[in-house]
Formats: sequence, structure tokens, C-alpha cells
Amino acid sequence: MTFDDHYSMTIGGEAVTGADGFDVVNPATEAVVGRAPDASRADLDAAVDAARAAFPGWAATPIDERRRLLVALGDAVIAQLDPMMRLLTAEQGKPHGDAKMEVYGAAMWLKGAASLEMPVVVNEDSPARLSETRRVPIGVVGAIAPWNFPLVLAMFKVGPAILAGNTVVLKPSPFTPLTSLRFGEIAASILPPGVLNVVTGGDALGPWMTEHPGIDKVSFTGSTATGRRVMQSASATLKRVTLELGGNDPAIVLPDVDVAKVAEQLFWAAFRNNGQVCIATKRMYVHRDVYEPLKEALVACARTVKVGDGAEQGTQIGPLNNRPQYDRVLELIADAKDKGYDFLLGGDAADVPGYFIPVTIIDNPPEDSRIVQEEQFGPVLPLLVFDDLDEAVARANASDYGLGASVWSGDEDAALAVAERIASGTVWINESQHLSPLAPFGGVKQSGVGVEGGVEGLLEYTNPQTVVRRKQKA
Ligand code: NAD
Repeated sequence: MTFDDHYSMTIGGEAVTGADGFDVVNPATEAVVGRAPDASRADLDAAVDAARAAFPGWAATPIDERRRLLVALGDAVIAQLDPMMRLLTAEQGKPHGDAKMEVYGAAMWLKGAASLEMPVVVNEDSPARLSETRRVPIGVVGAIAPWNFPLVLAMFKVGPAILAGNTVVLKPSPFTPLTSLRFGEIAASILPPGVLNVVTGGDALGPWMTEHPGIDKVSFTGSTATGRRVMQSASATLKRVTLELGGNDPAIVLPDVDVAKVAEQLFWAAFRNNGQVCIATKRMYVHRDVYEPLKEALVACARTVKVGDGAEQGTQIGPLNNRPQYDRVLELIADAKDKGYDFLLGGDAADVPGYFIPVTIIDNPPEDSRIVQEEQFGPVLPLLVFDDLDEAVARANASDYGLGASVWSGDEDAALAVAERIASGTVWINESQHLSPLAPFGGVKQSGVGVEGGVEGLLEYTNPQTVVRRKQKA
């Protein structure tokens, strides 16, 4: 399939092509999908200036009007569902069905965020005075997104930031800029100029944003290593930051599960989007009583799954998104081979074009192995046996990460008791990865700072302002 290759940045409501560009590669074929503009520092300055100019008017726009426009924007994205889905598959690699869910989810996220209420807290209402804390927008938000769910993760930021009255400069990953550029074009037909600007570029653009004096807050989703750099750079101008970072999510499978019932769900908890999910199950702790049957069921499930080009009918898992991530996952596999761990299946990259690695499951590697301790972010799952629940909880918590976790049991109360002992921002019971624009989501420890979603996430795009009124005329 070929795509119209005219992609422009959106700056102040105008399409800006930029002086230079860079190729975006289809990870299934390694063919060029299109060229994205490579923003210069002057392009970024223009986007920040446009966002600053739009800020007072947007902040003064009644919140119900902001809501209305966000809903209209969600509807406009849905109207482009099919072309956006195809473009997302081409640049990201995920199968059409998953891409459709992402584009639709992005639109629904905007609409869900639009339904949030901005709280006003009464601190004191006495005969002497009324003290209230209301919320005011921060200013210009720099939104930096990764490549695994480029559109929906950008909307995690755009929806609440705009609802709260901020203006936004959005930067997608250089591996997946095209759907975000299209989104910018759609937004330009709905939002006032400058409220949402989209810029694309290479490795220099993110740091230019985090150090830019005209950006008041950075909302970043990406790896923990980059998150540290973002926080450091933002400190120079004391920008507010929200950091959604990496994870190494454990799943704990208790001995009372119905293996036949949970095996497929557990498989997709680990391998959805080819394991390239911040909240994918990255370590699976299984009680010895059910280890063998679950192992067999997971392998049987893996054998039925079709890995291939996401644009082909029937594909359930696409390629890794990009060459560096492909190399990183292969390196972890090579390490596991060197150490002599047992592979239940997979392990060898297919000798075909594209960044394909087959579904790989490793049988009970040591707890201190790299594949258990590091975030693989790819289709390689360490399956780990445990005997004692306290030991499983301790192993699950022995990580610098704390993003998500899941507990699987036939007894919900027993699962809840385990969930309450897990150090992570979210714990799912008998499911995984369910997120909502109405619920806060974020990481503890080195998985992040702050949250997205829910009222808590909305408040991260505001400053509190306390107004104290003496009940006496001056
Ligand atoms: P990454 O950190 O390499 O890049 C993320 C974004 O930051 C990209 O847009 C990139 O261009 C930009 N960037 C790179 N260097 C920068 C710098 N110095 N300053 C500012 N911006 C910079 O991450 P990635 O490889 O795109 O994404 C994968 C990682 O993201 C994984 O670790 C995954 O767990 C994490 N992630 C977290 C969440 C979450 O919500 N917690 C969601 C998705 C992905």
C-alpha cells in the first residue's frame, strides 16, 4: 500500500513542512512509508510562540466549550478511523485490528477526558471568611510520546491538558510520527489556532523542548533512562513534570486458577502488541501446582498465533517497531542462550525482511537473569515457578520498577490480599492492561512521577489557586 506522503507539522493552525525531513520505515517490510518534517529550533520556537499566544484566550474559554471541542475532535478522529488505522499499522507494525482499537481508543480517550469535572475545594466557610481552592491551567504543555502506542498515549496528554485550559506542543517519536501529524491536521480544523501544535524531528528535538523557557510543563512517556534526562533538563526552568516510564510488570498466578480459562488471557497479557506495552506482563510467577499445565497451555496458545505483516489479514502479532528495539530484544535472547536457559519455543529471529522475532518463552530462568530483571519490551517471556506466596510477592516487589502487576486466582478475596501487597501504581485481578480516562494511572519507584487519567491526572495540568475572601466589605 502507498500513502500520500505529504505530511506537515501543525503550528499555529498552519501546515508547516519544514526545511528538512526524515524517512519513516514500515517495520514489517523496511520500506519507507513517508517522510516527516525535521523541525528546526526555529520551528519549535514558532510552535511555542503560537501556543503562548493562544493560551490566554483558551484559558478564558468556558470549560464547557473546551469540552465540546474535545468531543468534536474525538468524533473527527473516528471519521478518519480507516485511513488512520492503515497509517498506524504501516508506521508502527501492529495488526490492523489492534491499530483500529488504538485509533478508536484515542478518540474515546479525548471524549472520556472531556467528561471530567474540575474540582473546587472549600477550605473554610466560616462567618469570618470563605477560602476556596480552584484550579488554573499551567500554560504551555510540552507533550512527548513514545512509539508503542503513539496516538493513544499522545491523547492521554492532549485530552486533559486541553480540557484544563492549557495549550500544547506535541512531539511524537521519530519512529512513529505520521499518525500524530495527521492528528494535528484534524485538530487544526476543530481547535482555535495554536491550541494544539505538532512538531516532529530527531533526537535533538526532545531536549530542546525540555529546556525551552516557553514551555511550562513537560508530560513525558518513554523509558526510565530518558525520563531521568527529562527531569534533569526540566529542573533548569523548574518545569512541572509528569513522567510515565518503563515497567517490569509481574503476574502472580495462584494455585487455584482454572488453567484452561486463564491461559489465553495470560498469553495476551505478555504478548499483546508484541510485548511492546509498558504494562505488559514481563515476568510470570506461577505456583508449582499449576506450572506444568499452564506452561503447556501457553506454548499451545503461542503455536496458534499468526505473526506477520500487520496489514495482512489474520495477523495477530506484528514486527518489533524499530531496529534498536529489535537489536535489544535479540541481545537479551542471546544472553539467555549463552547462559544455557531452557527455551520452550522461539528464540531465533526469522531471516526475512522486517523486525520479526517469534514468540519466545523461557522456562524458569534464574531470578537474577537479565531477562527477569530488565524490561524486555518485546515477545520474550520468562515463566517462573514459585512455591510460597510470600516468596512470590517478595520477588515481584524486588524491582526498581513499579508500574503495573496482575494477580490471578479463583478466589477474588485471596487475590485482593496479594494485590494489596504489590508495590505498583496499578494492580489488576484476573485481567490485565485495562485503563480508563476516568481512573488515575502511573508508576511508583522508577516507573514514573505523577499520573495520567482521572481527576488526579487532570489536576496535573493545573496549579491550585486559593482565593480567601474575608466576609467584610473593605
Ligand atoms: P524513549 O524514552 O526512547 O523515547 C520516548 C520519547 O522521548 C520519544 O518521543 C523520543 O524521541 C523522546 N526523547 C528521546 N530522548 C529525549 C530526551 N533526552 N529528552 C526529551 N525527549 C527525548 O522511549 P521509547 O523507546 O519511545 O518507548 C519505550 C519505553 O516507554 C519503554 O520503557 C516503555 O515501558 C515506556 N512506556 C511507558 C508508558 C507508561 O505509561 N508508563 C507507556 C508506554 C511506554
